[in-house]
Formats: sequence, C-alpha cells, structure tokens
Amino acid sequence: MKKLNAKRVKRHMLRTSEFWQLDEKFLVISPDKKLCTLTGMESLPESDTGYLGYAYLDDTLRVAFLGFCNEEDETYKFFDSDQVLVAQASMLPTLLVRIVKPTEELEKHPFVQGVLEFHESDALRRSTLALRQIDHLRDPLRPAILKAVWIKDEVELEKTYNESVEQFLEVLVAAYEQAEKDGIRARDVEVEGEPGPLPVDAMSVEFVRITDFVPANNGTWRAVLLDNIPGTNKKKKGDDVAVSLVTTTFEEDGQNYSMLFIELDAPVEDTKISVASFKPSRLPWRIAYTLACSVCDFKDTYYLGRSGEDRLMFKEIIEEIRRGRIDPLIAIDLVQRDDCEIDFSRELYRCRSCGTLDVKRRVRLITKEHTLSAMYYCLECGERMSHVKRGHIASLDCPQCREQLKPVEEALWDGVNPH
Ligand SMILES: [Zn+2]
Ligand SMILES: [Zn+2]
Repeated sequence: MKKLNAKRVKRHMLRTSEFWQLDEKFLVISPDKKLCTLTGMESLPESDTGYLGYAYLDDTLRVAFLGFCNEEDETYKFFDSDQVLVAQASMLPTLLVRIVKPTEELEKHPFVQGVLEFHESDALRRSTLALRQIDHLRDPLRPAILKAVWIKDEVELEKTYNESVEQFLEVLVAAYEQAEKDGIRARDVEVEGEPGPLPVDAMSVEFVRITDFVPANNGTWRAVLLDNIPGTNKKKKGDDVAVSLVTTTFEEDGQNYSMLFIELDAPVEDTKISVASFKPSRLPWRIAYTLACSVCDFKDTYYLGRSGEDRLMFKEIIEEIRRGRIDPLIAIDLVQRDDCEIDFSRELYRCRSCGTLDVKRRVRLITKEHTLSAMYYCLECGERMSHVKRGHIASLDCPQCREQLKPVEEALWDGVNPH
C-alpha cells in the first residue's frame, strides 16, 4: 500500500456535492457491501477498508474505481488489473466520501491520464463550467446543458416603446413652445400620456435548453440549441446561436442573478484566439537563489526571472494554451477579447498546505482592464500554491522540517536551461 499524500481531505456526501467540487478529484470511498451488488459492478472486488475512486465529468458525473484504500492509515493501492469500473455518480447509493486533491503521483494512473487528456482537448467547452453564477441554470445531472431564455418580439416591443417615447418628446417640445408663446412657466406645462416602462406581460418568454456553451470573439458567447424554439423558425434544434450572459444586481439585498438570453438576430462569432507577448517596461530580476536548511539536509537552487529564452517560453505557453492546459477564466478572456497579452516569468511558489517549494512560469493574462494569474497546484498534495514575492524568499520555512531556511547564495544566471 502507498501513502495517500493528501494533507487536507474533506468529507462529502457524494449525492449532495456539486459537480465542480468533485470533478477531477480523487475520492476515498468507505466500504459498502451494496456497491458490489449494483448492476455492472459485480466484478468490483470486496473490501473491508474502502476504495480509491476518481470523480470526473463526462456528460454526467462519473466515479471510476481505481483501487483499494484504507481510510484509517490513509494508504491506497491501485487494482492489479487494467480494467477500470466506472459508475454514474447518480446511480451510486448514498455514500460518504472524502475528497482528495489530485497529486502528481495519483494522476499517473493511465485511466486518469486519459480523462485529463480528453478534458484538455475539450478545454473551450469546459471553460464555462467554471462560471459559478450560471450553476442554477444547469441541468442537475448533465451540467453542460443549460436553460436559456428567448424573448419573443423583444426587438418589436423595444421599437414600439422607443417610438412612443419619441412621440411623447415631440408633444412635449410642442407644448413647451406653445407655453413660451403664451407666457406660461415651463414647469406648469402638463402633458398627458408619458410612456411607462415595457409591460412585462407583453413579453412572451420561452425557456430553451442549450449545450456547448462557449466564449466567442468580440465579447460574445455561443451555444447549440437542444430544442426548437416555439414561435420562431429562424433557428432550429442543433443550430449555433449567439447567447448573452446578463447579470443583474438586486437593490434590496445586493445579490447578483445571472441569466442566459438567446439572441436570434446576433451573429454567431468565431472562437479563435489572438494573443501577444506582454512587453514589460522592466524585466523581473534574473537571480538564482540557493536556500539551505541548517537542521536537515534540504538545499535547493531556484532560477527565477527571465533569460534570453523568452520567445521559446512564449511559444511553449501558446502550445499549452492550444492543448487546453489553461485556467478556464484565462481561456474565456483569450477568446472574447482581442487585447490580451501574456506575461510570464519564472517565479517561486510555495504550497499553502505542505510547504513544498517549486518554480513555476507565473503566466499572467493582461488586458486593458484587468490581470488574471494562472493558478498552480502542489504536485505533492494537490493544494493551491502561493507566489512567493522576491522580498520573502529570505524568510521561508524548510519544506522538510519547518526550520527557517537560510539564503546561502544569490547569483545572476544566464544562458543555462535550468529545467
Ligand atoms: Zn530542514
Ligand atoms: Zn503541498
């Protein structure tokens, strides 16, 4: 049995967990005799200690049984056979599971590798799964299916309303002119028939299911219709449509509420990506820091900053973007905006949980309005890593024994490829 190197595992009921809490996570599944009696699960070997599972989204949320697990001493062992049993999460009995963050060691499993490669190839469609504000519009079992609204005659109603406003303004102007001639003060002029807001019941609203909801160029979204829209034949089931994502803030409680609207007359935009390399006014310092522990044998050198390999690194980052290895929110911006620049620099990261130190490329997306930093996860325990600012490098803890590390050398580096 191997040690399950997970520092923080949380208990969840599989049934009540949201797909995004479980997707691409490992599970410690308590032993349950019922599991082996489920249809298709007869070949699952019995276990008194529990199973190691892997949850992932593939249309529906699935759980793959990869091996045995012992919750008590936090150890696991993959099954000997290559055959992996997969069950739909919704078909499993009510299970208490512990969620284990993915680590490099666990992700080496060939089945998991296959899932991750498939997910990367589907990165654009998966990017919108990260938008928590539209979770309430998702099908509970198949999260990629969303409910969108189509408002019949919206354009027509708006036109009628605008016309009535114009008419009213004309009448008003005429009344003011008359009042001036008659010597009446402007504020005493009374004009009837002020147009009110659009009556809600005048709008015919249809709810339609959509899928393949993705970001598109020029700040738009697009999707594929899963239903015909009652009352129009401009678009049919299976057609691409433009979709707008509208978020309203309610004044009473300050809560945000998001809706998806189908825009039948708007062009369906492309999903191509255009990006440039950010040109910093001053490059980050190119320094190799050597840190050592005075208590244990820990000693390592971290090559930080940028060297003359910028073009190569930018190319590598673009390759990764094309392969789908990218934060979903960065992917959305890259598609929707044409002012995206990518900045990068080798920087030191520290795991918030186990203290592991690692050099990452610190990829940042820079637009005119905001900056998004890529997130990095610890290869040892799966937790988020934090960027260590240069000024804090001299006061880091030893990842092995937690004593304070001593900076033993700082040197400029150049021309080496410190992989
Ligand atoms: Zn140490
Ligand atoms: Zn860690």
